[in-house]
Amino acid sequence: MGKHTLIQDIVGHTPLLYLPSLSKKSGCHIYAKAEYLNPGGSVKDRTALGIIQDAEKRGVLKPGMTIVEGTAGNTGIGLATIAAQRGYKCLMVLPNNQSIEKYQTLEALNVEIRKFPPCPFADQNHFYHQARRISETDPEKYFWANQFENTANFQTHYDTTGPEIWQQADRKVDIFCSAVGTGGTLAGVSKYLKEMNPNCHIALLDPMGSGLFEYVQSGQMKSTGSSVTEGIGIMRVTENFKQAKVDQALQINDDQMITMLYYLAKHEGLLIGTSAALNVYGAYQLAMKNKGSGKNIVTILCDSALRYQSKVFNSEWLKEKNLTPSENLD
Ligand code: PMP
Repeated sequence: MGKHTLIQDIVGHTPLLYLPSLSKKSGCHIYAKAEYLNPGGSVKDRTALGIIQDAEKRGVLKPGMTIVEGTAGNTGIGLATIAAQRGYKCLMVLPNNQSIEKYQTLEALNVEIRKFPPCPFADQNHFYHQARRISETDPEKYFWANQFENTANFQTHYDTTGPEIWQQADRKVDIFCSAVGTGGTLAGVSKYLKEMNPNCHIALLDPMGSGLFEYVQSGQMKSTGSSVTEGIGIMRVTENFKQAKVDQALQINDDQMITMLYYLAKHEGLLIGTSAALNVYGAYQLAMKNKGSGKNIVTILCDSALRYQSKVFNSEWLKEKNLTPSENLD
């Protein structure tokens, strides 16, 4: 027998999918990195592994400790996925409006869950502050992953996601676009791609209710509206986001996002989550602006629609949120 494959070995190395239907419509080549194929089902498995390995190396995460994190769910699932074989316990603080699938998955992974009503970051009840305070009660027992400010997050995307995309796209990436939760993905990938090709154009995709679109436009962190997307959109500049190289920002609304989510299911057989659908809508918009140019455009499929099926494939929920997937993409 050769070397055994462990769960940590199947984090990353995801396929770069070509999207034929959208590519044909736009006369560009649209690619999407299938991050939902990670063992915990999202792009955040990379962050989880990167943060855990870095903390072990620095000696701040030791056997018997509990990993604490404030999360919209995916980082918690990623951390628990990696922690199980290493013998760490997990305690996760989440807002109480995330999809039921995330809480059920965390429970199955033996995670202790604390749920609180969502609130602005300035409020000390925000999940970020709650997680920090728990970790401060006993620094010997708790390790706070701190995905927003811990730069092991963007570093793992710089070391893995960026190089994988560059190789898989045959060293031809004209445009990369992605939404931001912590900024880890956009920062790590944009930094790597700009180093490989300084002309690679980087677009930040922002849901309504996030301040980053306006921040990139005018330097002011301001938002309007709201979004049903999960795990993306912020109102502050994190240490990870600071590393991002951004040329432009686009704002994408929930109608556009849900239209793309259903379009991809119907025309590409792809079941992807809300942030991923927003990403592909952004990639398609950028392709249409460069129509017929044959440019290579890359984005991220952060997680699967199955993580939200009680919402996005539920007609009652769609009605309640006033969302109607349109037949027409444009
Ligand atoms: N999509 C989903 C579903 C997520 O959970 C996250 C992470 N919060 C993101 C996108 C954004 O990734 P990042 O934190 O690297 O900006």
